Amino acid sequence: MNTVGRPTAPNQVQTKPATLTGGRGLLQNEALIFEGDGWGKTGVDLPEPKTDGSDLGDLVRKDPIGLPGLSEPETMRHYVRLSQKNHAIDLAIYPLGSCTMKHNPRLNEKMARLPGFSDIHPLQPISTVQGALELMDALAHWLKTLTGMPAVALSPKAGAHGELCGLMAIRAAHEASGQHEKRRKVLVPTSAHGTNPATAAFVGYSVVEVAQTEDGRVDVADLASKLGDDVAAIMVTNPNTCGLFERDILEISRLTHEAGAYFYCDGANFNAIVGRVRPGDLGVDAMHINLHKTFSTPHGGGGPGSGPVVLSEALSPFGPLPYTARMADGTIHLIEEDNVGEEMPQSFGRMSAFHGQMGMFTRALTYILSHGADGLRQVAEDAVLNANYILRSLDNVLDAPFGGSGPCMHEALFSDKGFAESFTTLDVAKGLID
Ligand SMILES: *Cc1c(COP(=O)(O)O)cnc(C)c1O
Repeated sequence: MNTVGRPTAPNQVQTKPATLTGGRGLLQNEALIFEGDGWGKTGVDLPEPKTDGSDLGDLVRKDPIGLPGLSEPETMRHYVRLSQKNHAIDLAIYPLGSCTMKHNPRLNEKMARLPGFSDIHPLQPISTVQGALELMDALAHWLKTLTGMPAVALSPKAGAHGELCGLMAIRAAHEASGQHEKRRKVLVPTSAHGTNPATAAFVGYSVVEVAQTEDGRVDVADLASKLGDDVAAIMVTNPNTCGLFERDILEISRLTHEAGAYFYCDGANFNAIVGRVRPGDLGVDAMHINLHKTFSTPHGGGGPGSGPVVLSEALSPFGPLPYTARMADGTIHLIEEDNVGEEMPQSFGRMSAFHGQMGMFTRALTYILSHGADGLRQVAEDAVLNANYILRSLDNVLDAPFGGSGPCMHEALFSDKGFAESFTTLDVAKGLID
């Protein structure tokens, strides 16, 4: 065990690690630098202060200030040891959400660090950040192209934030048509990610659950029975959280529109269909794309997210500001609240300070352009092939509740049914990390 040049404090003694596999990767047994000898040592030589009396009177400090006592190499080694406790995708697998991006090419990082993208400020004059705006405009173009949707809002900063953006656009649309008062419900399937009902509730809607069929898909008959003129929107994830494509998606969107409601699609799993299916062709009105899940960026443990939302023709007038637009002279401008004029009088306003996650825009565009159209399509095909390999390799040892529903999409689902009682899904997850 490493200490910082002194014996370990009694409360920090580690006995045998208690993890499932005996691994030590996540044990944090490094003493805090403040737990050392105080001023006993120092890493810097400061000149004695020239004091000519103090104006502080009684307020002068009488006790030691409590700074850590470390030499320079001890300080450095302490932080290097801490840095090595990070569990990283470069070292081993981790059991984070299936949809989370596992492939983060270093090229993206290099591009995101180009000073023209990383060392700029959102309040700089627009003429000095044309390159960054060009990049945002290009990313917007490709997101619209890949989804077959006419508009995109780049500013939402995560998937959940994108859901908020989509539902606020939907609410604004219902307000504009005078239907907001009667359309107070949002329909959400039981299998939905927790952020879906949370978002609907946050925007002020009441959440109505839609049943799931035996094979893990939306129960269309149940959905149809709950749709009516009191429903503002449905939120459906496709491919869904059970790893399955919603085969009845066209019927779902037809029924939704017939009832005068909007179709919000949770696009967190877009990596399974990118380049093969365009949500715009499925009747989707709004969908967030988690750039950190489909278009790379190291994510998890609090890494940055970005959740651009594509919008249909019907919803685009209500989307947030700002957005990029190319002017007649070829320069790109951000259409903001104060210069909106005729352009977007119905926008629900701003989602966030400034313009979104620039570093992630850079990574996502780098990833999209370096794969190209055929490469992105192959990403989806490989993701699905890999998940099916896992499903069929393990379905004889683990319970696969939807294994009989045909091939899966981006993820395969197993349960802990049949395990010994003391052995749970969480143990498997921890064991993978160990
Ligand atoms: C990850 C995820 C979200 C939320 O996205 P965040 O970027 O984590 O806010 C929503 N729905 C599904 C299906 C997800 O997998």
